[in-house]
Amino acid sequence: MDNSIAHLKLTGTQINYYFLCQRKLWYFAHDIQMEQNNDAVYLGKLIHETSYEREKKEIDIDGTIKIDFIGKDRVIHEVKKSDKVEEPHIWQLKYYIWYLKQKGVEGVTGKINYPKLKKILDVVLENGDMEKIETIMVDINRIITSPLPPVVNRMKICKSCSYGDICWV
Ligand code: SF4
Repeated sequence: MDNSIAHLKLTGTQINYYFLCQRKLWYFAHDIQMEQNNDAVYLGKLIHETSYEREKKEIDIDGTIKIDFIGKDRVIHEVKKSDKVEEPHIWQLKYYIWYLKQKGVEGVTGKINYPKLKKILDVVLENGDMEKIETIMVDINRIITSPLPPVVNRMKICKSCSYGDICWV
């Protein structure tokens, strides 16, 4: 592991937001949270709580990553509501696999479960992903330690984002 990231304890949500919206990542890192009243977030939580009820959920590792559940053969699962923004979900799971690898747990693969869509997406670490994750971690650290949030252009997802009121007043 690159020494410059050895001290970073990034969460899966931070990795997810890096791909979703870097301004949102900054808000989240600075404890500016507006998700409680957002219907989409509530629906996501409900799907999470009522799907895969037999599985042990939210496995906390080091107080840093939270895996939704672990299936057979070292397959870790992440449960999501919609596949509209797939890239953040994929990298969140790749990061979990990377994290476990750093701890000496080899042979882990991932699946993203979209119960509402009856869809499952396989996720593995591909060539170059380890290096990419380490570069992303350095960049996340740069963003969240910056005194101001990054400027972003209005995107499609802004319409359903709970931070809309403070971004676009
Ligand atoms: S409203 Fe748009 S720019 Fe602002 S945090 Fe949300 S997604 Fe990012």
